[in-house]
Amino acid sequence: ANRYGRGRIARYRPEIGPPAPAMRALEPDLRSAARFEQLHLVFQPKVRCADGAIVGAEGLLRWRHPEHGLIGPDQFIPLAEETLIIEQIGGFVLGAACKAARAIKNAGFDMTVAINVSARQFGQPAFIERFWRAMKQYDLEPERFEIEISELSMHPSRDDMAGALEALRAIGFRLILDDFGRGQTSLAFLAGLPFDGMTIDRSFVAGIGHSSTAERMIGGALKLADELGLETIAEGVETEAQFAFVRERRCAFAQGFLLSPPVELDDFLALVRRSPFL
Ligand code: C2E
Ligand code: CA
Ligand code: CA
Ligand code: CA
Repeated sequence: ANRYGRGRIARYRPEIGPPAPAMRALEPDLRSAARFEQLHLVFQPKVRCADGAIVGAEGLLRWRHPEHGLIGPDQFIPLAEETLIIEQIGGFVLGAACKAARAIKNAGFDMTVAINVSARQFGQPAFIERFWRAMKQYDLEPERFEIEISELSMHPSRDDMAGALEALRAIGFRLILDDFGRGQTSLAFLAGLPFDGMTIDRSFVAGIGHSSTAERMIGGALKLADELGLETIAEGVETEAQFAFVRERRCAFAQGFLLSPPVELDDFLALVRRSPFL
């Protein structure tokens, strides 16, 4: 049982679904998925390490395929990016995130909502305009949103990267560097970009207790974040030992199955209402 859900909430761990080569054959299905309402966002709580309070939600995409069942984003986002379907999907995500942020606010909570954005999307003026329109439609402010951009999608050769990030930040969005340590970018490159926070990848968190390399990596990342003035979020926290490790090293926030898996919006609101602080 996890700390908040006490095991009562169905997990969304899409480990099934078709293998990679078969994904390609699903391109036409993916193209129509958004239109036919097969896509939806689930929400994973972002928890403050100091007191266990839920301070935000991260929206994570799910595709409910009529024949193949639940398909996870790791399986279909790459195909979506290759085929430009990502633009349509990204539009859906913006709308769903705004809708969720409105529901959370209406329930009386002041929280951030994070979305994951592909490198392909975030530099485009159309993306910013679309986000802006969705926010205004739901009467929300950009400060409420966190845009997570994976280090894996960063390229030092893209000199428009910094400009695109600056533009989003100037509007008021919070920017989070996702999957830190998994990409190939240099520290100098990352340090020059206008991020507000970074996540500690779950592959490092998984090594706590038995991989000194992983533990050193986490220590180094937290130190770097501190020096750059970035907030830190440990991902994939599954055990009390992992939670204690990151908390002791003053990582500010944590996410993971120990705290709660990603859940439907209604279940997220229920978690927040009975959020038992540490
Ligand atoms: P991510 O942003 O690093 O998201 C965290 C992933 O770790 C999620 O997988 C989440 O379900 C999983 N997770 C959370 N806690 C734990 C834990 O304690 N243990 C383990 N083993 N896993 C945990 P998910 O939902 O399958 O998402 C995978 C990736 O797909 C995300 O990684 C993100 O990069 C991408 N993605 C998700 N939603 C979107 C989206 O709307 N747009 C785009 N472009 N990418 C998305
Ligand atoms: Ca993320
Ligand atoms: Ca991540
Ligand atoms: Ca995350």
